[in-house]
Parts: sequence; structure tokens; C-alpha cells
Amino acid sequence: MHEATIAKSILEIVSKQIARTPGALRALQVHVVAGQFRNVDRESLEFAFDSLKMFDQRTSGCELHLEMPSATALCKESQHAYHPCYQQAYCCPLCGSGIGKLISGEELDVVNVSLETVLHEEQKDHARVVR
Ligand SMILES: [Zn+2]
Repeated sequence: MHEATIAKSILEIVSKQIARTPGALRALQVHVVAGQFRNVDRESLEFAFDSLKMFDQRTSGCELHLEMPSATALCKESQHAYHPCYQQAYCCPLCGSGIGKLISGEELDVVNVSLETVLHEEQKDHARVVR
């Protein structure tokens, strides 16, 4: 299952951050951005994450904050930013030129991990979930 693999990768990144951070006790929250074209099912991912996180007490209290922005492309002809969709064959709907350059939609990133440490909360950021 696609979402279980993603959840596992997210938790691996969180665990690495814990291991790497001096005095880290546990993860509080992980912020993930999954672009539209990654076809991530929110409910399945949240379910997989909440199931798998229980295997480690340092991640069992970690909340998944999932952001799923819609895709954006830049028109080849006129630099229109547009929302590429299947119905338009991913072409620019304003001038009908071909498939533009995809600006966002394929990201699948951990953008932030909040940790509780012996001293304070610490923020660590940016790691790609799946390369
Ligand atoms: Zn255009």
C-alpha cells in the first residue's frame, strides 16, 4: 500500500531527527507537504501513520499535519500560472498552448519536525520523504 510506505518513510525521518538531536525526548508534530500529483489519500495516510507511530514511544504522540496543495504549472507561451488538470490534458486553459512547466504538485516533503527535548522544543526542517 502506497500510503503505508509513505507513513513509514515519514516516521523514519522523524526518528532520525530524534536520534540526531541532543536531548530529544519525543516527536510532537511532523508537517508534511504532499503535492496533488502524488495522489496521496489523506485518510489512508493518516490511518497508516497513526498505526505505525505506535511502535515507538518516541513517535507515538506525534501528530501528522498534512498539507496537500493543488498543482500549479507555468504556461509555455505567456507565463500564465494555471492549474493543470486531466480534463484539459494538463495544457494551459487560457491560450491552449501545450503542457507547461510544473511548478508544484510533485512535492512530498517533511518540511518541519517539532521535537520535545530536555531543554526546549526544537524545530528541524526539510527532508524529502521519497526520492
Ligand atoms: Zn497560457
